[in-house]
Amino acid sequence: MTDQADKTFRPESTQDYGEDPTGVRTSDKYVSEYIRGFVDKWDELIDWNQRADSEGRFFIDILKGRGKDSVLDVATGTGFHSIQLAKAGFAVTSADGSAEMLAKAFQNAVEHDVMLKTVHADWRYLNRDVHGKYDAIICLGNSFTHLFEEADRRRALAEFYAALKHDGVLIIDQRNYDAILDSKKFQTKHKYYYCGDQVTAVPVHVDDGLARFEYTFPDGSKHNLNMFPLRKNYTRGLLREAGFQKVQTYGDFMEDGEESRPDFFIHVAEKL
Ligand code: SAM
Repeated sequence: MTDQADKTFRPESTQDYGEDPTGVRTSDKYVSEYIRGFVDKWDELIDWNQRADSEGRFFIDILKGRGKDSVLDVATGTGFHSIQLAKAGFAVTSADGSAEMLAKAFQNAVEHDVMLKTVHADWRYLNRDVHGKYDAIICLGNSFTHLFEEADRRRALAEFYAALKHDGVLIIDQRNYDAILDSKKFQTKHKYYYCGDQVTAVPVHVDDGLARFEYTFPDGSKHNLNMFPLRKNYTRGLLREAGFQKVQTYGDFMEDGEESRPDFFIHVAEKL
């Protein structure tokens, strides 16, 4: 990990949203949301074995099918995809803007006999800290939702685009916020991504500019995340406007349309 990561290490034990939690709508908030207590439980929240079963070879097949080798994971989190892809033979670089997450990912990788190459980098300034061009970038686990300002979304996508080779591919996913916004009543099959059976993820506030989720763990502890509810077609539009020529969207790892109301959308955006 870089020196910069060490300097910004934040061992707070409680989240702090101040007096008006639903008023907290900034792209910088993610760093202090992923406190150690939450990060340590993150792997409980996303049961790795169940998640691997749900996803199968989806990402590996997309990358291998396009002959990709070097992969930059820009939202490493606790390392699930970085470790899976490294084990599958890809040359992986693992970036994240949270030092807490990178530390946990590194530790998880060691337990899987994988040596992760980590870089502490915020997407909005990605190319300042990450050097070289990659065959593919992945931004998974409903991470892009952390950007609240449209200018930040456009800037992050421009940085991703610039870090890709001329024929590179970006794989970016998001929760199906259309379903949440349109029904105002949230249901999830708890099959994809947030698979820990004993962990509940519930939206406690939803409006056009905020989806605030509450995660309750078996020990009764609760953590929150404030996220921007991205509509599917809005994200697809941003990807096209960032320069990606081809954008294909899958619902829960199937071609869009095959499942009527997926929990997640996965966008595969190609430069060529
Ligand atoms: N990809 C992992 C997974 O699927 O388990 C982690 C997902 S977690 C919901 C979101 C991750 O995105 C966190 O690790 C967070 O630190 C990172 N993140 C959010 N905003 C970011 C930004 N602007 N720059 C860099 N990383 C960011």
